[in-house]
Amino acid sequence: MSDIIQLLPDSIANQIAAGEVVQRPASAVKELIENSIDAKASAIQLIVKEAGKTLIQVLDNGMGMSETDARMSLERHATSKIRKAEDLFTLNTKGFRGEALASIAAVSQMEMRTRPGEQELGTCLVVEGSEVKKQEPVACEKGTSICVKNLFFNIPARRNFLKSNPVELKHIIDEFQRLALAHADLQFSFVQTDEVVYDLPAGKLSQRIVNIFGKSYQEQLAPCQEETNLVKVHGYVGRPEFARKTRGEQFLFVNQRFIRSNYLHHAVMGAFENLLPENSFPFYVIFIDIDPRHIDVNVHPTKTEIKFDDERAVYAVVRSAVRQAIGSHNLTPAIDFNADVNIISKLSQAAAQSNDIYFDERFSTALRNPNAEHWEKLFEQSKNFAPRAPEPQVLRFESSVNKPDEQFAEKVPEEKALFQVHDRYIMRQVRSGLMIVDQQFAHERILYEKFLNQLKNKSAESQQDLFPQTVALSAADFALVLEMEQEIAALGFRFEVFGKNTIVINGVPANLPSGGGKALFEGLIEQFKINQSDLSIPLKENLARSLAKRAGIKAGQKLLREEMKALIDGLFGCGTSNYTPDGTPTFFVFELRKIESYFNRQ
Ligand code: ADP
Ligand code: MG
Repeated sequence: MSDIIQLLPDSIANQIAAGEVVQRPASAVKELIENSIDAKASAIQLIVKEAGKTLIQVLDNGMGMSETDARMSLERHATSKIRKAEDLFTLNTKGFRGEALASIAAVSQMEMRTRPGEQELGTCLVVEGSEVKKQEPVACEKGTSICVKNLFFNIPARRNFLKSNPVELKHIIDEFQRLALAHADLQFSFVQTDEVVYDLPAGKLSQRIVNIFGKSYQEQLAPCQEETNLVKVHGYVGRPEFARKTRGEQFLFVNQRFIRSNYLHHAVMGAFENLLPENSFPFYVIFIDIDPRHIDVNVHPTKTEIKFDDERAVYAVVRSAVRQAIGSHNLTPAIDFNADVNIISKLSQAAAQSNDIYFDERFSTALRNPNAEHWEKLFEQSKNFAPRAPEPQVLRFESSVNKPDEQFAEKVPEEKALFQVHDRYIMRQVRSGLMIVDQQFAHERILYEKFLNQLKNKSAESQQDLFPQTVALSAADFALVLEMEQEIAALGFRFEVFGKNTIVINGVPANLPSGGGKALFEGLIEQFKINQSDLSIPLKENLARSLAKRAGIKAGQKLLREEMKALIDGLFGCGTSNYTPDGTPTFFVFELRKIESYFNRQ
């Protein structure tokens, strides 16, 4: 047999490598900006069009490249950043694998202009799918400009795989934010289709945070700092009372490189123990500086995972730094709580979220404390501050056209036939046996159909919020919200843009049990994003599903008789009664025959 194995041509090898390095426009943005940072630029500009699908351009005033280097930079495994394997352990640049430019050039139409400070003329290179189309001297600014057009133009499958513009833009904003936070001392700007998204002057970290996330962050930042022989931890954490229902503003950096680490996230959350309402996430920007010999960043090409040789030590320092920052170490009875306004307001806030359980738990932990008497006194005092849970309101389901199912329509004396068990299930006698309805899932189905209908007919009923609430969003979420403005209004939210990345909510969907405008809005966006990444469903359906999930009655909620009745009527007025939109059963019938069989003596 003749030999059949051949080396792949570079262009194909690069394309394959690109699959790992460049997954979407945001990955190209990250690689290009990182290169500018490595080139010691002090000012970096990002320009994108159509969420990076048609254009990504990064301009910097860094060291530039000679003609030969410019050409070399496009080769795979070509890098100026390491020379030998040992260099991997003393790394202080973002890049080192030498594959980003080669990969991007393999899957786009790229134009590079670059000039080192000491040369008069720069170099212009035009590359298409790894092939150099043009190379010529050019007059240009000191530094480098790389223009990436039509990403994946030569891999239609990849291009089709890209998500909608808002989604891709969100990824880009995420990457940009991470890099801009990691390098507050550099000037950054970001222009999207001729509109300035960010213009960030060089400055201190606290200023950078405020410039990115908005003025409202000023008051919530607590500096954190802790140092041992092994690591230095510094940055800012958001005070617990500002924690949000949506994730996405938690940033960990190791040697100025953004990383993901559930383990260290856990360390931070642990430090907030008991101070956060359920399912909320505090803001944090935490830097961990450590000798590069104690870490391995070479775990994955995108380099967002890192191995520490002593992870537990890092965990302990992070946790302690955050604890000190939020003063939770002060939660020992040594300090004068009467003077600590923060804690009281925190507690009343928590209780105001209508959850006495939380309130009590919070204190039962405290009561285990040696100085219990002091706590008890505080507990008594703070009760005055804490509004009790409101009486459950009577619900109205407008869509409750009673269109009873044959089987369930019979006349049963109602007083006997309907009751709630474990604050969770509604039991009802039906001809064939006993029907058990899951209150949460049933309501989810009812709301879903209602919202979907509203979205189709644009016929929302809204009720005015007594107190308009401002919601500060991340730039990405803000963009998403604007993109879906009409649909969100069709759900019944009334809101206005109120300065940068901030909106004011002054109306919420009518007749919902959950009330809270801000929390519900944040919940909607959070759930929308979760669905967006897990399921590929059309926008309207996603919105209807998300709000239905977040706004409905939950398990654990006591229902009045009227409410149970409305719920059951509503459920059987639905187009589909049996399942929630994601396929969970809403009720089942325990057949009489089955019940009898349990009592069958044989
Ligand atoms: P890496 O960053 O891993 O070295 P890249 O493919 O991203 O690999 O870049 C290859 C080389 O091109 C870099 O090592 C650097 O020398 C050069 N380079 C890339 N971008 C720039 C830039 N903006 N300014 C100066 N040099 C650059
Ligand atoms: Mg690089």
